[in-house]
Amino acid sequence: MTTMIDDCLRLLIVDDDEVDRMSVRRALTKSRLKFELSEVDSAEVAAAVLKESAFDCAFLDYRLPGQSGLSLVRLLRESGVRIPLIILTGQGDEETAVSLMKAGASDYISKAKISSEALSRALQAAIRIYKAEQETAMANQRLRETNELLIRKNRELELQREQIQRQNMQLTEVSRLKSEFLATMSHELRTPLNAIIGFSQILLRQTKGNLTSYQIDMVSRVLSNGQNLLALISDILDISKIEAGRLELKLEEFDLAQLIQATVDELRSLADQKELLLKVEIALEDSQICNDYQRMRQILTNLLSNAIKFTEDGCVHLKAEALPANQILLSVKDTGIGIAADQLEHIFDAFHQVDQTVTRKHQGTGLGLAITDLLLNMMQGSIAVESEYGQGSCFQIRFPRRLSAEAQTASAKSFVTSSQRFLT
Ligand code: ADP
Repeated sequence: MTTMIDDCLRLLIVDDDEVDRMSVRRALTKSRLKFELSEVDSAEVAAAVLKESAFDCAFLDYRLPGQSGLSLVRLLRESGVRIPLIILTGQGDEETAVSLMKAGASDYISKAKISSEALSRALQAAIRIYKAEQETAMANQRLRETNELLIRKNRELELQREQIQRQNMQLTEVSRLKSEFLATMSHELRTPLNAIIGFSQILLRQTKGNLTSYQIDMVSRVLSNGQNLLALISDILDISKIEAGRLELKLEEFDLAQLIQATVDELRSLADQKELLLKVEIALEDSQICNDYQRMRQILTNLLSNAIKFTEDGCVHLKAEALPANQILLSVKDTGIGIAADQLEHIFDAFHQVDQTVTRKHQGTGLGLAITDLLLNMMQGSIAVESEYGQGSCFQIRFPRRLSAEAQTASAKSFVTSSQRFLT
């Protein structure tokens, strides 16, 4: 059962026949509808009135003088009148009614069948449909607006994406230029520095006359500072080359056990000075590997010298073992000062040192681990660390036993640190 429309409806009857108008008026009055009725007797007046004032529905006589109901409906619809138009047809006009509906009429009622129920039913149905249509039109309009908004937002996002992409390209280019500049500069700086180191060494050999102890002290300082500077420049050169994609691995077959031994022998004196136990355990049945000998040595030296540098008591333990899938695992474990948990994620950043103070005890550039990380990246390997503040650290590196030639071009162009680095 449909509910009755409660609002007071503004209705219009368009009929030139006073008697017909009266029968509609009567029927409406008998219905339970609340309404306010206006009556006009010609199509022209109807068109003007409907344009001027707001009605909820109009009843149009099909046969108006000088104008058929059909052309009136068309005219009204074309002029933007959207309210329900119910046509009152004479007898036998039902066929015409179909074309009326096509032209935009909402319903038709034969004048012979006019009753309060028929009028009320047709009126309410037409108004409901009209309201539903209006709501649909409004919802459609809202959808269209949302759609337009989304399209606009999308366009803005696309523009922003393009801008970010452009900025990214600029940044990459600037970074490449910076790395290139650093690589060239470092290279140029090494030549005079090597001369300073070389001449200091000659002076200290004292082949031509004796130097006073004061002079020996001075020249020794020149030499040690020169060597530190050379180490720093070499590290900067390495990192810049890797960043600029200009560092290539020189692959060769070599014995990893032998390389480990040679590196340990070289650093043993540092451990001895601090009375640290330097233990080496090579648990490899086959220690032949294919990699870059010098770069592997650099990685080992970085890890071992850090372990010795940051350990005052106890030992440094280096272990090499084979992993499944033809991987090698090297771990360097120390009983040193350890690294606080909040520092762990930063130690692989270039120039990062846990102790950043000028008066820090340990020398270094803060580039060793960054270079180690980037080199291992190029070697399709990885580095991980586990450490407890005050207890010691364990650095582990993994890499393939045989590095393929294609891996040489693998890029390691950023200092981005990976959260996978921590041993669990
Ligand atoms: P550097 O040793 O030249 O300072 P690295 O990049 O090799 O630079 O190391 C960065 C920092 O990580 C070090 O300054 C130190 O604070 C910390 N670190 C590295 N290895 C150890 C270790 N074995 N024990 C404690 N701290 C370490």
